[in-house]
Amino acid sequence: MSSLAPDVSIVVPVYNEEDNILPLVDAIDSVMQRVKRSYEILVVDDGSSDRTWEKLAEARKRLPQLSIVSLRRNFGQTAALAAGFDAARGRHVVTMDGDLQNDPEDIPTFLALLDEGYDLVCGWRRDRKDRFLSRRLPSRVANALLSDLTGVRVHDFGCTLKGYRAAFVKQLPIYSEMHRYIPALAGSVGARVTEVVVRHHPRLHGKSKYGMTRVIRVLYDLAALRLLTRFAARPLHAFGVFSIPCFLIAGPWFLFTFFDHTTGEPIHYSTVVFPTVLFLLTYLGFHFLVVGLLAELAVNVLRTKSEMVVRVHEAAGGAA
Ligand code: UDP
Ligand code: MG
Repeated sequence: MSSLAPDVSIVVPVYNEEDNILPLVDAIDSVMQRVKRSYEILVVDDGSSDRTWEKLAEARKRLPQLSIVSLRRNFGQTAALAAGFDAARGRHVVTMDGDLQNDPEDIPTFLALLDEGYDLVCGWRRDRKDRFLSRRLPSRVANALLSDLTGVRVHDFGCTLKGYRAAFVKQLPIYSEMHRYIPALAGSVGARVTEVVVRHHPRLHGKSKYGMTRVIRVLYDLAALRLLTRFAARPLHAFGVFSIPCFLIAGPWFLFTFFDHTTGEPIHYSTVVFPTVLFLLTYLGFHFLVVGLLAELAVNVLRTKSEMVVRVHEAAGGAA
């Protein structure tokens, strides 16, 4: 059924949140009824294996503003968010976690700031209700690093509760764990960014989907981010820097290898050329493999977004 586009899309990625999802969509719905703007609640089911999908289907019968996007398998929170951004029809988009740790009561604050003209409004969980060692400490370090590296003065990059101008967020390249870096990406394209303190609650039902390995992946993504924000338009500059010392060392070494150091006479080519060719062929073998894999990835980035989605249930109407 086609309907007028709503003004606001609330996007919620969920993976196995069967006990949280109904109270959450009801809470969002009641906040949005009060706000009196047209809206859709867009839940992205990231391949849940519990009863999340059934619960959502049930909720759809009484909530006409609920849209569900269902992913083929568990793709991860960032991919789920990206699918949500893709499907969102609102002019303003607000994202939040599906585990009731973010509070729907904060949504109106985000909408007010977006109305003021910000492209991105970041939530700041100043009083965060998570474990210290596995969550708050690594997050504090990562936030300090990110803020320094990118010059974007935001305290809490990782908070999912954020508000975006749709036209802006739909253009961002996000994959891997990149949703955490949206403020940094935003800063690099000159978007207007602000932050606001939000409520945060402990998780009451279900389990957190992340462990300590996240810390390592987040670090690698930091390197990728640096490339994206600084060198996206000129990647050759980033990689070219590494080729300079290689060539500088290889040039003189080349001469050194072909002449006998004591006599200065050229040495017989077979002693030098054979091992070199052997090494070169081995290296080239790997090199072509890696280039091929890279090309595969580049092609896939264009494909996966649409292939992730199995079914979409669009909200019945756009009116509040
Ligand atoms: N999530 C998801 N796909 C995943 C992992 C998580 O959609 O593969 C959702 C999850 O259901 C929740 C949000 O992302 O709504 C944040 O996840 P979680 O609460 O586990 O993260 P934490 O709050 O512990 O950082
Ligand atoms: Mg959580």
